[in-house]
Amino acid sequence: MIREGDRVLLVDRRGKRYLVTASNREFHTDLGIINLGELVEKDYGESVISHKGEEFRILKPDVNDIIAKMRRGPQIVHPKDAGIIIAYAGISPGNTVIEAGVGSGALTIFLANIVGPQGRVISYELREDFARIAQKNVEMAGFADRVTIKLKNIYDGIDEESADHIVLDLPQPENVLPHAVEVLKPGGYFVAYTPCTNQVHRFFQAFQEYREHFYKPRVVEVLVREHEVKRECMRPKTTMLAHTGYITFIRKL
Ligand code: SAM
Repeated sequence: MIREGDRVLLVDRRGKRYLVTASNREFHTDLGIINLGELVEKDYGESVISHKGEEFRILKPDVNDIIAKMRRGPQIVHPKDAGIIIAYAGISPGNTVIEAGVGSGALTIFLANIVGPQGRVISYELREDFARIAQKNVEMAGFADRVTIKLKNIYDGIDEESADHIVLDLPQPENVLPHAVEVLKPGGYFVAYTPCTNQVHRFFQAFQEYREHFYKPRVVEVLVREHEVKRECMRPKTTMLAHTGYITFIRKL
């Protein structure tokens, strides 16, 4: 049952999504005004009706709804890349993951979702303004209990004594290799997301010095081709998100 203060997803007859809070306020849409107080004590799957008589279905928002609607600072890691990071590194409930930089907090939210209430995500960020945005987004997603955002340069070192995995989205992941050797548990993954080929090249040049500590270097790029589904025709969409980043995985011995 929905309680006052809960985040709720409303979906209109066109499939348009609205992320709202169950509260004593009005929410204005082009399909009419909704009294958000009416959401309290309803169940997910039920509906509310706007003053124009339009029906809005009530759903529980998932991480993708939160990330789609949250405030952004820098460019986020997309779900297709977050998915492969989590799957290939085997990130699991209860894990401790060290992340940098936090940016808008999108990858942080995906990681927090998978490590669960028994896990921890410790995220380093250089910029106070981004750390503030990310903190709000993490709170909106309901993961403040398991995420710690630190205003620190991860190139200077990692405070934590050990971690199951290290996940990086910053310009020079090779600068974190000496710290990862100290902190990563055997079997844990070091993952670096970088948009440019020269960053991957530079990473592997630096990696030569540390290769005795790691095995299984792997670099992937994820391409997702979506299809248009119409009654008479299903075909690939004419446009796609062609390139986001290269994802490098190395595993600690
Ligand atoms: N992965 C984030 C997301 O999904 O929202 C976006 C990260 S953004 C592209 C890169 C972030 O790394 C920026 O916020 C930047 O300030 C931060 N950053 C860059 N170098 C850093 C460092 N040495 N230590 C900590 N944070 C750093």
